[in-house]
Amino acid sequence: MSRKTPQAIRGTQDIFGADAEAFAFVVETFERVRRLYRFRRVEMPVFEKTEVFARSLGETTDVVSKEMYSFDDRGGESLTLRPEFTAGIARAFLTNGWQQYAPLKVATHGPLFRYERPQKGRYRQFHQIDAEVIGAGEPQADVELLAMADQLLRELGIHDVTLHLNTLGDAESREAWRAALIDYFRAVKDQLSEESQERLEKNPLRILDSKDPRDKPFLADAPKIDAFLSEEASAFFAAVTSGLDAAGVKWVRAESLVRGLDYYRHTAFEFIPDEGSASAAALGSQSTVLGGGRYDGLMESLGGAPTPAVGWAAGIERLAMLVGERAEPKADVAIVAEDDASMLVAIAAQMGLRAKGLTCDAFLSGSPRKRFDKAVKSGAKAILAYQMVDGKVTGRVKSEDEALGIQLLQFEHQTSL
Ligand code: ATP
Ligand code: MG
Repeated sequence: MSRKTPQAIRGTQDIFGADAEAFAFVVETFERVRRLYRFRRVEMPVFEKTEVFARSLGETTDVVSKEMYSFDDRGGESLTLRPEFTAGIARAFLTNGWQQYAPLKVATHGPLFRYERPQKGRYRQFHQIDAEVIGAGEPQADVELLAMADQLLRELGIHDVTLHLNTLGDAESREAWRAALIDYFRAVKDQLSEESQERLEKNPLRILDSKDPRDKPFLADAPKIDAFLSEEASAFFAAVTSGLDAAGVKWVRAESLVRGLDYYRHTAFEFIPDEGSASAAALGSQSTVLGGGRYDGLMESLGGAPTPAVGWAAGIERLAMLVGERAEPKADVAIVAEDDASMLVAIAAQMGLRAKGLTCDAFLSGSPRKRFDKAVKSGAKAILAYQMVDGKVTGRVKSEDEALGIQLLQFEHQTSL
């Protein structure tokens, strides 16, 4: 047997200390904000049948064609570790008959898996917070969802990230735009990157968000969606933008913003750090923090009835990087047993204080003379130290915080009776 310790899988993370605190802060803030907006919590499976993602996202997308962790289980069925939440939630909506709750507002968070090239802000197991409104076709749903994203960022203390907004139109507008893009890029096909040449016929929208310098010169003059929007699609977008203005959400128009997945219609958006900002410096090239849009076509691709829906997801790690390291909090009280005879009283005291909602570290073992020093070093706001004096276990209190000190003295007095 090998004696070498196995290494962690490439692209996974062991999150600890101040980074883990930042991660928890993001999740806790999301939980609080989603309650304000009355989004209901759902827990979803980490894996699904491969077809759930293949049919929802589209075979030509990067996620399906290159990034999925798929495997056959022991029964020979092809399963995939979820690369995103939306497809699984849509599947659940259909298989559980959640139509009865429509419009359904749900939120969740957890790990996702994509076979990507690991780098800063990009992992193979990463984590997202996710919010979806299913069965709501009106632009007010988009506004509420975006307002929630905006408030979340502000409550995380992130003020230099802005909403970039676009519309992809309805199916008809999107199809006309797509055809015009194919015509436009076909004329310069030889000068495009190999990847864009490949995308040209299948997924020409994706060329617009190419980062390849060979494609860049052609992007500015590419046909814009606005020229192809039906009257309805224009009115929808206008209702979204006026709603955002009323909600006080700042946004900028991003005419070439497209989302990678086939299922998007109408509203598409990303929250991106402002150029030259601290957040842009923290994230480097992995600049999208939160992204999403309207996916009215998705339920049909899973065999359901047409169902309008809109949602977003944000990478917890990227948000945590913008939040910065957060110190692990110091305990309210450090309990010390200064000799072994006072040990049991100290254990009981700990229980009593925690029951009162005070956070407690305990220093009950190791050399008795060093326990008090360790408690001081721990940085706890107060110390309650027990010692056997004249056959009686007695506590003494040391506290910087006067109110907490008085509370502990009262507690000590009551418990020693
Ligand atoms: P990117 O363009 O960065 O690859 P994406 O369009 O693939 O992003 P989405 O599928 O929209 O990303 O996921 C939403 C969010 O999830 C992203 O904005 C990002 O914050 C986060 N995210 C996506 N992929 C990863 C990853 N591999 N590692 C860490 N976070 C990720
Ligand atoms: Mg990606």
